[in-house]
Amino acid sequence: MEGRKIILKKNTDEKFKTENIGERLRKIKVNLTENILDIICPKTCPMCDKILSSHENICTACHSKLVYIHEPKCKKCGKELRDETKEYCADCSVNKHFFKCNVAVFEYSHMVSRSLYKFKYHNRRTYAKFYGEAMAKHCAYDIEMWNPDVIIPVPIHYKKRIKRGYNQAALIARELGKRTNIFVDEKYLYRVVNTKPMKELNKTTRKKNVEKAFKIYKNVVKYNKIILVDDIYTTGSTLDACAKALLAAGVKEIYCICMSVGYGI
Ligand SMILES: [Zn+2]
Ligand SMILES: [Zn+2]
Repeated sequence: MEGRKIILKKNTDEKFKTENIGERLRKIKVNLTENILDIICPKTCPMCDKILSSHENICTACHSKLVYIHEPKCKKCGKELRDETKEYCADCSVNKHFFKCNVAVFEYSHMVSRSLYKFKYHNRRTYAKFYGEAMAKHCAYDIEMWNPDVIIPVPIHYKKRIKRGYNQAALIARELGKRTNIFVDEKYLYRVVNTKPMKELNKTTRKKNVEKAFKIYKNVVKYNKIILVDDIYTTGSTLDACAKALLAAGVKEIYCICMSVGYGI
């Protein structure tokens, strides 16, 4: 009996030792990979491109300048409001939106807009990790309350995707999905019209530009609650057009999250 006990103990110790060696080797491998990656392709700040150490996601100076969206904010579009007695911003008080509500992470600033521009047009795909993480942290409460079936990035036309090489909203959505364990579907919704860039248009033409731009891949209801992910909220026309197509296909509730939004009045 004593002998058996000793053998069992010895086996457990050996297993423990093996696991420890395995774990230590894994850590060495991770550290080595991180160090090699740091040398070949150093991590840079998503705002100013300064080189970061492997444990940093943004430099201290830029972090201190970031302005997150806080209450009071419009219950519909998520724009921060100056008047806390108001429930909706001037736009949402008069205009109907097809999505239930939008929340955003950062207030639109020169620093954030420049970063999002480089992310979208200058191949800064690595910024997605920072954006996805910030979105998952800042919107954790809303995501939990909404309890969605799926995350869907606002799609870009395939011609733009071929030219640019990626859909910036899909990169953020993937990072958000990883951190929230929510499935990301990049095929359910697609863009049928290669629309003009929205920044060149005013509010009325923006709406017309995207009105019939989106379609559901197959008209089979798969989801009840959806989170749409996009980079910037301006007038909400793109999200409305997506939401309209999704509602027509039988989706019940559409929520949105954007990286940045302007100030509301
Ligand atoms: Zn920086
Ligand atoms: Zn609003």
